[in-house]
Amino acid sequence: MKEEIILKKENKQSLTYEELDYFFNGYLNNKISDSDMTKLLKAICKNNLNMREINDLCDIFINSGEVLTQDFDNTVDKHSTGGVGDKTTLVIAPIVACLGVKFPKMSGRSLGFTGGTIDKLESIGVNTNLTDKEFKQEVKDLGFAIMSQTKNICPMDKKVYALRDITNTTENVGLIATSIMSKKIACGSKTIIIDLKVGQGALIKTFREARHLAKVMAKIGKKYNRRVLCVLTDMNAPLGNNIGNKLEVQEAIDVLQNKVHNNFYRLCVFLSTIIVCLSLKMPILTARKKVLEVIKDGKAYDKFVSFVKYQGGSLDNLEIKAKPTPIYAKDSGFVKSIDAKNLGFLSHDLGGGRKKLNDKINYDAGIILNKHIGDYVKKGELLCTLYGKKVDTDIVPSYFKLSKNIVFPKRIIISIIR
Ligand code: URA
Repeated sequence: MKEEIILKKENKQSLTYEELDYFFNGYLNNKISDSDMTKLLKAICKNNLNMREINDLCDIFINSGEVLTQDFDNTVDKHSTGGVGDKTTLVIAPIVACLGVKFPKMSGRSLGFTGGTIDKLESIGVNTNLTDKEFKQEVKDLGFAIMSQTKNICPMDKKVYALRDITNTTENVGLIATSIMSKKIACGSKTIIIDLKVGQGALIKTFREARHLAKVMAKIGKKYNRRVLCVLTDMNAPLGNNIGNKLEVQEAIDVLQNKVHNNFYRLCVFLSTIIVCLSLKMPILTARKKVLEVIKDGKAYDKFVSFVKYQGGSLDNLEIKAKPTPIYAKDSGFVKSIDAKNLGFLSHDLGGGRKKLNDKINYDAGIILNKHIGDYVKKGELLCTLYGKKVDTDIVPSYFKLSKNIVFPKRIIISIIR
């Protein structure tokens, strides 16, 4: 039967609920091998899933585990489709919690060339394997908690996600929508905000595809009586200054300490404002003012410090011991584009991501960008700094495209789709 199912998808036919259930539950129960599941995932990436198949698969994923109901009214969940340098959860969670929002957050590990919140937190020793009881207690005590996907919630996604990470089967609307929405629905929040990244450094490359994914997720949400709001954000260049686990935690801290006001800061302020506005039914301008206040007065940073301590981590672990490798410009000009996808792969090659299922991450590995879009750079000036394993660096300057003409940076928020 498994060969017939793979063949059907390879031949562009749609799969029935029973066929999807047989294959995916078989994989969860170790009756279907990694290699057969990879074949089906590759066929799906090539020939896609229709809306009926996506709904069926989402149902199968949700029913592979428990479905939680939230203890708090108006909980808003936020999820990112994944990008390079994306550490927004680390900033948003303490900000909104300071303002009275209850923010229970289940996060993921890195996927393909994109990073994951859980790996970032583990880089400073934060324990993300919490029991449901510990998770709920921390949300009561601090206003937020961040944990990794448990065995009980969408275990099917956990297993399939880890396989997609290493088999180049990440960039498909049906698989992304199923993966995200099954987890968010199982977690019980009524309102789901998706930071839908679009561009070369994201799983979704074009505005058209992003709009399609947003509509698919909204349809799934409607079926389960959830409100879904997708914020489309630019991911052609990396988000912020730092890529890599410890380096990204450091940048999140810099933003919480009000030291950095780049595109990453602007995105965090925007998403926090929407979350506060929707959860606390507050006018948007009031919400924004309050968000800025808790950054300025240090309350959001203090909340982050309490969270790290509560979950057993320490900011003393932030020190980077790897030797820096500077990368210099080979020409002069205005920075026109920065290749986020190749920098994401480079960060993986430096040791910051996994190539095989059980690979260990080097948490020190990563990249600091010393130039950004719109900056003028002189030949021989520092473009970026690498940390981690020795890699071939000759190609790295070409990831920064230069122009003789002035370049204006793009807006980080592209549009909102409901
Ligand atoms: N985030 C997820 O949880 N799943 C995906 O497939 C992509 C991003």
